[in-house]
Amino acid sequence: MQLEAIRSRIDAASARAGRPEGSVRLIAVSKQQPADRIEAVLEAGHRVFGENRVQEAAGRWPELRERYQGVALHLLGPLQTNKARQAMELADSIHSLDRPKLAGTLARLAQEQGSCPDLFVQVNTGEEPQKAGVLPGEAEAFVRDCREMDLPVIGLMCIPPVEEDARAHFRMLRQMAEDLGLPELSMGMSGDFEVAVEEGATLVRVGSAIFGERPPRE
Ligand SMILES: *Cc1c(COP(=O)(O)O)cnc(C)c1O
Repeated sequence: MQLEAIRSRIDAASARAGRPEGSVRLIAVSKQQPADRIEAVLEAGHRVFGENRVQEAAGRWPELRERYQGVALHLLGPLQTNKARQAMELADSIHSLDRPKLAGTLARLAQEQGSCPDLFVQVNTGEEPQKAGVLPGEAEAFVRDCREMDLPVIGLMCIPPVEEDARAHFRMLRQMAEDLGLPELSMGMSGDFEVAVEEGATLVRVGSAIFGERPPRE
């Protein structure tokens, strides 16, 4: 379990970039990880976790939350509209708002329930056809539409193409967030979180570097 080592690397990257202490939050991405590894991180006092799938999150976090107070859960993966209600019940933040239909569903449910998780618009900075996210050229209009629906969009999220230099994508996302007046940047994973911190990430999403390699899905 590498929680402390990852925290130190975040702090070092943050100091290198001249950023104030505490300006980066670490999301421990527990998807597909065995329960004992997750409990070790909880026992170490960490409380901010990320999951990719609603089903998996629903299967483990309600029970863990009863045993460990103060858990914040971030939902990171693609979200189907028919899972939106369950996602809103489970998650404190949703990082994958990526299309008008989902925005419409979340807005309707938010009105119904009088509350909504914090939302991040996912941007497909590499314009990869297989990847979720709005295209960079569509982000401004999409964020405006979300705001008109009173959705609490607080930041942008991206997953750079694996074969490219992540830094350029992080820079693009930061510039877009600045232009849109959005304070939060969800970027950086196990392989590139230090670069993301240098480029202004306020949340990094680190899984395997903390917990170890994920066992394959059954
Ligand atoms: C799995 C996942 C992560 C964490 O990936 P690691 O490489 O294990 O750090 C971060 N963000 C998203 C959206 C993910 O699906």
